[in-house]
Amino acid sequence: MSELAVTLTAPNGVNYSQPVGLFINNEWVNSTSGAKITSINPTDETEITSVYAADAEDVDAAVAAARAAFKNPAWRDISTTDRGKLIHRLSTLVEKHQTILATIETWDNGKPYSVALNEDVAEVVGTLAYYAGFADKIYGQVIDTSPSKLAYTIREPLGVCGQIIPWNYPLAMAAWKLGPALACGNTVVLKAAEQTPLSILYFANLIKEAGFPPGVINILNGHGKKAGAAIASHLDIDKIAFTGSTATGREIMKMAAVNMKNITLETGGKSPLLVFDDADLDQAVKWAHIGIMSNMGQICTATSRILVQEGIYEKFISAFREHVASTSKVGDPFKDDTFQGPQVTKTQYERVLSYIESGKSEGATLMAGGEPYKDVNGKGFFIAPTIFTNVKDEMRIFREEVFGPFVVISSFKTEEEALERANNTTYGLGSAVFTQDLTKAHRVARKIEAGMVWVNSSNDSDYRIPFGGVKQSGIGRELGEAGLAAYTNSKAVHVTLESAL
Ligand code: ADP
Repeated sequence: MSELAVTLTAPNGVNYSQPVGLFINNEWVNSTSGAKITSINPTDETEITSVYAADAEDVDAAVAAARAAFKNPAWRDISTTDRGKLIHRLSTLVEKHQTILATIETWDNGKPYSVALNEDVAEVVGTLAYYAGFADKIYGQVIDTSPSKLAYTIREPLGVCGQIIPWNYPLAMAAWKLGPALACGNTVVLKAAEQTPLSILYFANLIKEAGFPPGVINILNGHGKKAGAAIASHLDIDKIAFTGSTATGREIMKMAAVNMKNITLETGGKSPLLVFDDADLDQAVKWAHIGIMSNMGQICTATSRILVQEGIYEKFISAFREHVASTSKVGDPFKDDTFQGPQVTKTQYERVLSYIESGKSEGATLMAGGEPYKDVNGKGFFIAPTIFTNVKDEMRIFREEVFGPFVVISSFKTEEEALERANNTTYGLGSAVFTQDLTKAHRVARKIEAGMVWVNSSNDSDYRIPFGGVKQSGIGRELGEAGLAAYTNSKAVHVTLESAL
């Protein structure tokens, strides 16, 4: 199957074999139509390679493999401890191959190599190991009703799970979904994002090496509107888990209605970060920077709306501007001192630039950036870290998700006003509060309409802690023990001990 892998040398000199096929039943196959996706290096706009793209027929094949695997004793009847061991072996293999995986992620996505290695790949290792530990700790309950009845619940797997992954954290988002799905005994058809198809294919080889039976995990690349839609609307898929934009999430929800799939959606956000007068200014500035400028601002929980109390507003702005200028080093993502690489694609780059134009035309004050960054190699999708101040609530840049190194800052007078404005959004994913007043921190945390609140930090998510949104930021939770609930049914068994008849 030599045509289903190519030997590549990445810009950092790492040489490896890149699979380019579809991974179905632990085998590499090409797509029935022969269609391909070309992956572009966002740093210099060169082509990396092309991979096969699935269409509906290929999705059917992957689903059939996953269905057969779900019924296969090799998976269905495996002891839960052995199931955990398989997932753990996968985690260990990811760690062993971390250099190549991080290299592919940086090359294909543009994120700094140190981030790909120490954050993304480390998170994959941690998440899989964490859920490996849960495999033999998924318990039902015994429910006491009366001496004549024994009632208990069994938490059984849902069946075949479709998982649709975004491009901002390709491997990590796959691990968030695979870990709990596998721990609970499901089988999976996973589709990577067409913008970043490469790392998941390398990961697929590790699945086979770990010893998973054929068909338990099937990995496809393909376009959202074709392969993604085929998964979301497939009659033999029991569950769909999606991370991506709110608009696509809404489409997926509609398609999933065809057979009432169980759904988990993690969608967009415009997460507020509130800085009160009594905050530790230095800490607020550092976390605010991490909260929006990390990963090129391509984070669904990015705290992209900063609201600062008026007593500290001017001071915050000048400290924040200085900190961004000195820390947000834009550059080649393979260089050690780079904090910010390119946006993932031309489309995303143009999207951010269009919001810059919108901010200017709506009359916000452009405090920094606001233009492409051309000093890396004259090419690539780089954008100068952008700060708008004096932003009004009705402006598009205050209301809409930009998904770039782009932040809006506004001032508020009172706690009530801050909460009112923080919650005046269709989204409800992340949020952050900076104050040294313990009571205020907890009070505000309760009143913020969001799935997650960081007190005196931002975006330090953790795979042991539930992650997800309210309002139009999603349905259900991933990560933590809560993440398991998305992958089991609770079956109730009623046993008559003494018949009343
Ligand atoms: P973005 O707009 O940032 O590219 P999307 O939400 O469109 O994000 O994409 C996230 C994932 O959803 C990708 O894997 C993409 O292929 C997939 N996707 C996009 N459109 C659809 C669709 N109509 N049906 C199913 N999946 C889709």
